Amino acid sequence: MTTTLTSYLSGKWVAGQGNKTALYNPATEEVVAEASTGGVDFAAAVSYARTEGVKSLHGLTFAGRAEVLKRAAQVINDHREDLIKLGIINAGNTRSDAKFDIDGAAATLNFYAELAAKLGETRVLADGDGTALGRSARLYGQHVWTPRAGVAVHINAFNFPAWGMAEKLAVAIAAGMPVITKPATSTALMAHRIAELWVEAKVFPAGAFSFVCGNVGDLLNHLSGQDVLAFTGSGDTAATLRKTESLVRHNVHVNVEADSLNSALLGPDATEGTETLNMFLTDVAKEISQKTGQKCTAVRRIYVPAAQLNSIRDALVERLKEVRVGNPAEDKVTMGPLATANQLRDIRAGIDRLAKVAEVALGGSKPVEGHAKGYFVTPTLFVHRQPKADASDVVNAHEVFGPVATLMPYSNNAELVALVSAGGGGLVSSVYSDDKAFLAEVVGGIAPFHGRVTISGEKVAGQTISPGMALPGLLHGGPGRAGGGEELGGARGMSLYMQRVALQGPRPWVEQFAGVKPASAPAAT
Ligand code: NAP
Repeated sequence: MTTTLTSYLSGKWVAGQGNKTALYNPATEEVVAEASTGGVDFAAAVSYARTEGVKSLHGLTFAGRAEVLKRAAQVINDHREDLIKLGIINAGNTRSDAKFDIDGAAATLNFYAELAAKLGETRVLADGDGTALGRSARLYGQHVWTPRAGVAVHINAFNFPAWGMAEKLAVAIAAGMPVITKPATSTALMAHRIAELWVEAKVFPAGAFSFVCGNVGDLLNHLSGQDVLAFTGSGDTAATLRKTESLVRHNVHVNVEADSLNSALLGPDATEGTETLNMFLTDVAKEISQKTGQKCTAVRRIYVPAAQLNSIRDALVERLKEVRVGNPAEDKVTMGPLATANQLRDIRAGIDRLAKVAEVALGGSKPVEGHAKGYFVTPTLFVHRQPKADASDVVNAHEVFGPVATLMPYSNNAELVALVSAGGGGLVSSVYSDDKAFLAEVVGGIAPFHGRVTISGEKVAGQTISPGMALPGLLHGGPGRAGGGEELGGARGMSLYMQRVALQGPRPWVEQFAGVKPASAPAAT
């Protein structure tokens, strides 16, 4: 019998009624579970989280919330092997892909546990220095951050069921906001198991954690001015959500993490035999195939000096040919299928669209030999010899969310900046060079269009982290097409879940409330 996944709302597990959505094993197309939220009382769930959850979390100091997050990470670590199996059968993950997701989740929870522990036994945070307001030093102003008195609704994409859920949750819980989290239904098995384990282990205080498995129904209609919606997914869904009347009417704080045409840029100095070129090739090949290219941060556009176009193409093709596509339950497989039938349809259409302007160096949209069933696609590399620096060029207009990237030439720094920026705003761009003048001009030029820019060269050889890895201490998000949102970034990420308020009053009281050490106060007059 097929398992029906339930939701954890108002402090109990509830089953949905009516039509169910099937979850598949994308390698075999077998149904592995089903889910529904039909008839679920979302109004009551929001109200419960807002009352019980707010009470529980506002009652804890940052140090108390740190303990909660530490336990959440520990539970994931304790069940790592079981969770890996769920990633393999429901998300098309290889073991390595599943570990990336699960370990990323635990690491982010632990990062915010440590950050919250350092903030200590307090509930508000001072924001910058205070300022004397009157003629005497007694009247004083100080900005502070205080947790919002609402609920944070988290809607996540299908590609990181564990990490996606944990990275939003870690920041919100650290900041003091209860969470109602929803994974994408198609790959919800792993997130659902984590939710079960957290509930069994009583990780969260009453009302602080709720879990929706299936459609969000009318949940968003119940949000109000103290609540937050943090969404990760496609730009199209984001555009629909932004128009939700209740969100607009009540000015609900909305953060969007959407599509991105991430780029990798090779400097003219990184020629044959340099360590910098080697790093570039290793990272780009990894970013194309890891998680079957279904990472929001994966490299989609690759820019190299025109003279090196053919040699780089050959080097990348050689590396990508080593990728073994197949059922990730088999040991030798290094790249699994796409997560869903819809993904397969969209990726094939995207490849066909790119094929109209670019030549195929490897792969393509044809079915993968030996796989009559399953949502398989081969790593695909295009060469586009005449890229345009505007959105009329398909490489700058459409994200193909699979193991697909396009290699393009540039002739000078200004052209490179224009080509990269034509992607309309991205999560990450990675630049490979040791030439200071090149780095200054190009990084300076592309920076306003990105949430993160990585610089790799010989000085950091052996220490770099692949650009597709979102780091809890650095911002994740980006302008324009990428959604305009900001997540993570250490304590910065908590600002979404906290209200900044200016306190104006007697200096000793203001400083005590804000937790500012009075040592900086002038001697009493
Ligand atoms: P999606 O189709 O937009 O779905 C994302 C989430 O939104 C899912 O949980 C989905 O739930 C939910 N959803 C869909 N329609 C909704 C509606 N009308 N109201 C409320 N919720 C709704 O995106 P996806 O296919 O899962 O993810 C792929 C996309 O996400 C790619 O474009 C990728 O670039 C982007 N992404 C971005 C980031 C980032 O950090 N910037 C990270 C990962 C992925 P159901 O599954 O139940 O339909």
